[in-house]
This record gives sequence, C-alpha cells and structure tokens, in this order.
Amino acid sequence: MTNLPLTVLLIDDNRSDRALAIRELRRAFAQLQIKEIREAREFEQVLDADAFDAVITDYQLGWSNGLEILRAIKARYPDCPIVMFTNTGSEEIAVEALKSGLDDYILKEPNRYVRLPASVQLALERKKNERRAALVELRLQSLLNRLDVGVFRATSEGVLLESNPALVQLLGVSSIAEAQSLLQPYLQKSFQSLANLSSPEPQECEIEFRRTDGMSIWTTLSLTFNTIDGEMVLEGLLNNITERKRAELEMQQVNQMLEERVKERTAELESANGELRQVNQELEDLTQRLSIANQELEEFANSVSHDLRAPLRIIAGMSQMLLEERSEQLDALSSDLIQRIIKNAQQTDRLIIDLLSYSRMGQTKIPLQPINLSFVVTDVLRRLEPELERQQVLVTVEEPLPRVMGNSLILSQVFTNLLTNAVKFVAKDTHPRVRLWAEVFNEWTRIWVEDNGIGITAENLQRIFRVFERLHSDEEYPGTGIGLGIVRKGIERIGGRVGVESQPGRGSQFWIELLTYTESP
Ligand code: ADP
Repeated sequence: MTNLPLTVLLIDDNRSDRALAIRELRRAFAQLQIKEIREAREFEQVLDADAFDAVITDYQLGWSNGLEILRAIKARYPDCPIVMFTNTGSEEIAVEALKSGLDDYILKEPNRYVRLPASVQLALERKKNERRAALVELRLQSLLNRLDVGVFRATSEGVLLESNPALVQLLGVSSIAEAQSLLQPYLQKSFQSLANLSSPEPQECEIEFRRTDGMSIWTTLSLTFNTIDGEMVLEGLLNNITERKRAELEMQQVNQMLEERVKERTAELESANGELRQVNQELEDLTQRLSIANQELEEFANSVSHDLRAPLRIIAGMSQMLLEERSEQLDALSSDLIQRIIKNAQQTDRLIIDLLSYSRMGQTKIPLQPINLSFVVTDVLRRLEPELERQQVLVTVEEPLPRVMGNSLILSQVFTNLLTNAVKFVAKDTHPRVRLWAEVFNEWTRIWVEDNGIGITAENLQRIFRVFERLHSDEEYPGTGIGLGIVRKGIERIGGRVGVESQPGRGSQFWIELLTYTESP
C-alpha cells in the first residue's frame, strides 16, 4: 500500500463502474482523494482548479469522449498521468490515444479492475522519472551553457544535432548554421579517419579558424564516436587555445631569432678567429725577422765596438809609452796634454763598453730564473773590493736577502751600477757608507741601496734614469750617463720596477722591485 497523498480525477458516467474503480484504488493508496466527474461543467471546473495528480477516464461519455478528455488535459497539464478504462473503445482508439500521450489503456472487464491501481502507480512513477530526467537535463544544459568550451554532437555528415552557446561564440558566428558550415569539412574528414580505425579512439587536432570578424583563432577539436539510437554520431569539444598558441608562436620566433643571432655571432667569431690567426702569423714572422735583425745588430755592435776600441787602446797605449819613456823630453804642458789624451781615450772606451751593454740589454732574450740575491750581491762586492777599499767604504748588507725571479747577469750589472754610483756621488771629505736590505710584500720584493751621498733634487728623480742624463760635470764626478739607463732597462726586462727617494745633502735610497720567488708546493 502506498502512503503518499494522491488525488485522482475519475471521469465516468456509470456510477457502479466508478464505485468498483474507487474500491480497487483505495486498496492500493492509503491517502486517496477521488474527484468524480459526471458532466462537462464539473470537468471544466476541475481543469481550471488544477487540483489532481492523475486521471482515469472512460472512453464513452454522454457529454464527451476519452480522446477529447485526454487532449484537453494534455493541453493544460502535459505531465499529468492518464489511464483510459473502457469497454467501448477499439484498437484504433487505443493506438490513437497512446500516440496523444495516454499512459495506459485498460478494458473494463471483471478481472481487469485490479489492474487499475498498478497502472496509475506506474504512470505516476514514469511521470516522476521523466520530470527528474528533465530536471537533470536542464541542469546539465545550464552547465553546458556556462562552459566556455564549445560542446556539440553531429551526424556522420557533419550536420550539427545539438551544441552549446559557447560553440557559436567561440567561432565568432551568429548562428548554428554558420558554425556548422565552418566545422563541417573537419567533421566529415574526422569521421572518415575515425571510421577507418579498428578501435576508434578520441581524436584531437589543432585548427586555425578565420572568423567572420577577421580575427583568427586557434582551437583544439577533440572528437569521439558514440552510438545513439543505433545511429553513429560524432561528439566533440572545441577549445580556444589562441593565447597559448600565440605564446608558442612568439616563443618560436624568439628561438629562431636567437638561433640566427648565434649563427651570426659564430660566423663573426670564425672570421675574427681567421683574422687573428693571420695577425698571429704575421706577428710570428715579424718576431722572427726582428730576432734575425737583432742578431745582426748585435754582431754589428760587437764588431763596431771592437773596431772602435782597438785604435783607442793604441792611442792610450802609445801616449802612456810617451809619458813613461820620453818623460825627460816633455815639458809640463806636453805631459799634461798627453795625460788628457789618455784619460779621454779611457773614457771613450768606457762609453763604448757601457753603450754596448745598454744595447745588449734591449736585444738578448732574457730567461727568468730564481735568483739568490745574497750570492749576486756578494759576488759584485768582491769584484768592487779594490775600489771600495781604496775609498774606505763601509758596506752593510742586511742578510738574509730573499730569493727573487730574475736573471743573474742583469742583476749583477744593476747592483754594480747602483753600488758604484753610491760610492761615487759623495761629498769630497766624506767616507762613503752603503746599506743594502730587502723588504718582502708577498708577491713583490723591494731591495734598497742607501748611501750617504750628495743626494738628488726632487725634479731630477725621474730624469736620471734616462740615458746620458747627468747632473754633474765630468770633472766633478766622471761618468758616461748610461749606468742608471742600464739599471732601468735591465729591471724592466725582468718584469720589475725601479725608483729612488732622495733629498740633496741627505743621501739617496735607490730601490728595485722584483717578483718574490716562492717554491711551488
Ligand atoms: P753616471 O754615473 O755615469 O753619471 P748614471 O746614469 O749612473 O750615469 O747616473 C746618472 C746621474 O744620476 C749621475 O750623473 C748623477 O748625477 C745621478 N746619480 C746617480 N746615482 C746617484 C747617487 N747615488 N747619488 C746622487 N746622484 C746620483
């Protein structure tokens, strides 16, 4: 027994038939209300009132017939379940009534009354299910309408059966027909290729559409097969991927541009490399030519100095002979003149020697090696010993002296010149004092040579390192003016620096700076 409240319209002229029907219905429905209709006026009123859930009608009525009743109710209440219960109808009527929306047709026979409640119940449930399905569809439809993805279903010929508004919007058209004409070629083609597959799987492709507003849009079209009522249909999704595609295209362009730039750069580098190789080659050729020229120049300088020194030696030697062997025949003036000749010859010889070593300083290749400064200084002092003793020079060397990177020949010459100057440029009545020490500043070592000599004015501190720059006359302090030139050039050739600190009358402190030698671990 069903407990739901139910109001049934019972339309039948026959009173006992109505009573029988009511009896059967009450058995099935606990809260049943029956509205019995016997004439047209009652029917009109109840139609307007809309206060019933289901209708049971006879076909043959004195004032109407079941088909008209059916149509009148369906016109107002299309969802209302209607069962026809009659003994006057025919098969044609039954077919006609079912076509017009009748839910069931039952013949009025003694054993058929019992079927009436079940038939009403079934019709009610069917209507309820239909309403629920309609509601679900409505909700689905509203979801589809809100999607910004085009959703559609089409026949195998590409004719659109249904679609959501996004499809039309996305394609920039104003009607489904226009959307269809844009999509149809792709749908037909896809249908063909899907049909050719043994197990059709969803297909996806990217399509560019030119919209009627001139804009071009990129989409992905995803299609699958489905069978509805035995008919093959295509179900599809159309997604707007214009933004992504644009970004991809821009990325491609940027990549292409970068690739081109890389190619250009590589080409530039290659050509620069070629030029560099050529320049290097030219440089190598030049160096080779220079080394040959240097060699020739050195040979020339050697032979010139040899040729120049030979007559000088003869002049000095012969003059010396004159002085020694003919001294009694020479008057004072002649002796003095001959002595001057000897002195000049010796000085010129010195000049030739100095010039030769200065020119060698610039030409020979100088190999750098670790140098023990103590050895070099001790050696130089030993060679200068006679002169140092003659002048009663006090030399102080602050041992230990560090090891530096340099060249022993050059450093010998440098210290010889610095020490010779230190003891030469002193005031007449002063005993020369020389002090030599070193300071190590990590990478660099500075070696000082200090004297108690006449000193140098500030404006001359740079000048004296240039060749032939002398601050004194030959009579005061003899010399060639090349010594400090050799020092500067030599030190520069072994990667060092040279300088001096001094004040007139307060001695000078010459320094040279060289790379400290550190034993590799
Ligand atoms: P030379 O010693 O043959 O004159 P140098 O090139 O060695 O030539 O020196 C250039 C000049 O620098 C010297 O003539 C002298 O005037 C000055 N000089 C060099 N060393 C000293 C020193 N220790 N004290 C003062 N003056 C110096």
